[in-house]
Amino acid sequence: MTVAAVIVAGGSGLRAGGERPKQYQLIGGRPVIWWTCRAFLDHPAVDHVQPVIGEGHEDMFAEAVQGLDIPLPVIGGGTRQESCRIGIEAVARHNPDKVLIHDAARPFVTADLIASVISWLDRFPAAVPGMPVAETLKFAPGGMVSRTVDRAAIWTAQTPQGFLYDGILAAYRKAEAEQTQGLTDDASVAEHAGMAISMIPGDLENRKLTTGDDIVMADRDMTGRQLQARPDIRVGQGIDVHPFDEGDAVVLCGIPIPHSQKLKGHSDADVAMHALTDAILGTIGEGDIGTHFPPSDPQWKGAASRIFLAKAVELLEAKRGLVANADITILAEAPKISPHVAAMRAYLAPLLHVDPTRIAVKATTMEKLGAIGRKEGIMAFATVTVRLP
Ligand code: MG
Repeated sequence: MTVAAVIVAGGSGLRAGGERPKQYQLIGGRPVIWWTCRAFLDHPAVDHVQPVIGEGHEDMFAEAVQGLDIPLPVIGGGTRQESCRIGIEAVARHNPDKVLIHDAARPFVTADLIASVISWLDRFPAAVPGMPVAETLKFAPGGMVSRTVDRAAIWTAQTPQGFLYDGILAAYRKAEAEQTQGLTDDASVAEHAGMAISMIPGDLENRKLTTGDDIVMADRDMTGRQLQARPDIRVGQGIDVHPFDEGDAVVLCGIPIPHSQKLKGHSDADVAMHALTDAILGTIGEGDIGTHFPPSDPQWKGAASRIFLAKAVELLEAKRGLVANADITILAEAPKISPHVAAMRAYLAPLLHVDPTRIAVKATTMEKLGAIGRKEGIMAFATVTVRLP
């Protein structure tokens, strides 16, 4: 039995506002689509995951799913119906018996619901999860109530919708050949083809994120869930110092700052990011930067320190841990750090997979005392809190 999942992410998602389509906006430190794809990639009963994305979204998608082992996306069409057909055709190469079609904008889909849809397909050629309507329904054209609709047997439809593969492929090809348009979900396509569709219990949590408010609430909810599932709170600290050398800029927290000198070191000598990296490694007892990137190894000469930080985060996440907050203090007489703090937090946030509000960057001088006070170098301290299961 081979099961494929098509994740439909073609929409421009403009109703949610923001700079990017809703499926690429961050909730719980990750893009919406990252959570959705991971739910299917992690599911033991799903063999293949096929994303369908909008034209021009290729770079955004690649960035959004970094770290996930996911195949290349296919580019969808002008409507959801067309995008789904393209996705369904794309998984033909895997010869699936069953296919699930899911909206990228439903990141709260559970493993139980995915398993339920798959198992119902043993009894019916199509299964659609949904919720019985609890509220009274009014038919009100033009804003005036003309009658109350009998809500018995009325359900809302969610995704993933599941189908026997050959049946839904034929249904989509039929709709395509007949140029039937405006079918807003896959079950409508199946209905149009006369398939027997079972309505099965969905999940209240499996909501579709549509508006900007939905994104804000989902961010809070996803963050809360992640923290709650990780009661093991740990603190790590890191300290680093690099001397000045001849140059014209220093790099701190990934941001180049013009200066009359540079920092000397084997890599880009980003002293603040090194302290932060060591602090994260400290929370999981994984040594320090030197353990993973020996200074004797020429391949790290001039390297961007984000590579070191990414490695530390990867090690933490391999233990299903996450960063709760990071607090960095830079000790320097010069250059002036404060104008760059916002850029530093924005640079670090996606690397740590947290919101910038969970990162602090502070700076202080040494009041001309000691080596740092004599402008011989820059020192940095970092404290990080992480959560582990
Ligand atoms: Mg260093």
